[in-house]
Amino acid sequence: MTTQRDLRNTLRSTRRHVPTNLPYRKRLPASPKNIVVIGAGLGGLTSALIMASEGHHVSILERNSIPGGKCSQIEEKGYRFDTGPSVLTMMQTLEEVFSYAPKPLESYLECIPMDPLCHYWDRELPSVADSTASFMNYANLQYTLDEVKRIAPYDVEGFKALVQLSSELYRKTNATFIRNPLARLKDLKGLPWLDLLDIKAFSTVSQVVDKHVQSPFLRKFFKRFTTYNGSSPFLAPGTLHVIPHVELSLGAWYIKGGLYQLVKALEKACLELGVNIYYDHDVQQIQTKKGRVVEVSTSSQSFEADILISNTDSIELPLRLASQSATKREKDAALEQQPSSSGFVLLLGTKKSWPQLGHHNIFFSNDYDNEFEEIFHKHQYPSDPTIYISNTSASDSEDAPKGGSNLFVLVNVPPLKEHTLHRQAERESESLEYANKLIHELESRGLKGLRASIEVQYIHTPVHYFNTYRSNRGAIYGTSSNSPWAAFLRPRNAHPRFKNLYRVGGSTHPGGGIPLVLQSALNATKLALDTL
Ligand SMILES: Cc1cc2nc3c(=O)[nH]c(=O)nc-3n(C[C@H](O)[C@H](O)[C@H](O)COP(=O)(O)OP(=O)(O)OC[C@H]3O[C@@H](n4cnc5c(N)ncnc54)[C@H](O)[C@@H]3O)c2cc1C
Repeated sequence: MTTQRDLRNTLRSTRRHVPTNLPYRKRLPASPKNIVVIGAGLGGLTSALIMASEGHHVSILERNSIPGGKCSQIEEKGYRFDTGPSVLTMMQTLEEVFSYAPKPLESYLECIPMDPLCHYWDRELPSVADSTASFMNYANLQYTLDEVKRIAPYDVEGFKALVQLSSELYRKTNATFIRNPLARLKDLKGLPWLDLLDIKAFSTVSQVVDKHVQSPFLRKFFKRFTTYNGSSPFLAPGTLHVIPHVELSLGAWYIKGGLYQLVKALEKACLELGVNIYYDHDVQQIQTKKGRVVEVSTSSQSFEADILISNTDSIELPLRLASQSATKREKDAALEQQPSSSGFVLLLGTKKSWPQLGHHNIFFSNDYDNEFEEIFHKHQYPSDPTIYISNTSASDSEDAPKGGSNLFVLVNVPPLKEHTLHRQAERESESLEYANKLIHELESRGLKGLRASIEVQYIHTPVHYFNTYRSNRGAIYGTSSNSPWAAFLRPRNAHPRFKNLYRVGGSTHPGGGIPLVLQSALNATKLALDTL
């Protein structure tokens, strides 16, 4: 016999295939529930959207006065900066999320495929001409292979083999791990336990890459993808070599008007579905009773919750918000969570532009091994950092005044040593010095006149990410994957003890970065809806 629940589940799983020309209808469940979401980051907004589209009463409580969390933006003197993510990948996940919105994705966002994907500079590689990059990575793999042929003809076959291996890893892990909430025993059965060797779980990314290519530049090229979830290629399992496939084969996108438009679109869709968003509402406490969350409180207000979805960093629950009901084991486990790398970000509005800069640009360090040794073992800012620059004004002239650039400069740095701020003053003085060092370095690598052309400057350090979003030790991607087991130790989307508590965001399964954060919300809401 088909029950109401079976029917709802079938509808939910086929929803993506409903022709988009049919008018959207919000679902009307027999008894709508009170859903409370803590945090309006990408994970929280996505969860709210899905729960509201299923007809429930949803409230989001956000401590800041704007949505988006780490995906944010700053506008000043005609310069617009995305202050968080700049690369959007795995478009199919975004499409799945917007299948829950009242209107199709295209009516909220204009997503533009990137080509070239990235410009690279390396001191060991000659540029074709003084003003051009050393290596171009194109959306068309064949063109990139021509570049490989030019700089390292002996590595063409190895390059192809690494691209192929990455695609295989994606095929083996996407359904069984990323899209699998790993919540029930039957979910674990789907994991490729017997294939752990096959998915390179016991070698590092660095070992996998070194086996296939000899060129020092190409080694760095492939290893850098591991930093997309804040991990070290010298520590993370070879399974993370899945990431190149996501960009090299599936592609990367930019959103017209900046990546912050994604936040605005999710907020808009939530409001269209009747979600109440309470800004400047810092949740202080979660009350529990008999294995369930019953109420969530800020300093001045309480909200009853049938279901609570937390988009805070997962360590905040046992250590702060639900500390009274958390067990010692839960608190210890939270403290053991290894945060991802943090970021040192310089936002530079410059009167000048540099024709050699593309939209995405990488300036590699000489000694990649030492760079990660400094970040993850010595816990210091790298002395010779790899520098990433996102220059959206190369694609979108409205992002800077005429003739100028909006440079988002990012260097991977260690997270704070503790989940407190006692070293804040020390860090702040370090910051100006480090910013000057980066500007000097960029001038020496071709951005002549950079310092003199700066009109607007902001510096964001790990302290900023901790203070503003309360992320674990200022990590920017959540937890790291710096061991073969890290991926399995991330907090799962369904809380193991409180039956109506779900966790989403970069510090939860399946991990950090936009697509995985969206996936965490898809996983968590599916689990929550299955209980209703
Ligand atoms: C500099 C930088 C560069 C990045 N680059 C990329 C990139 O190119 N591509 C990519 O895919 N990803 C990138 N990322 C990572 C990506 O931004 C994150 O993975 C994602 O935005 C995290 O979303 P989230 O929902 O997990 O959490 P968050 O963005 O941290 O949102 C959590 C929200 O909860 C709120 N909150 C916390 N505690 C409370 C409380 N007690 N009460 C109320 N509200 C609370 C916070 O204020 C915040 O709004 C980058 C991040 C940074 C910072």
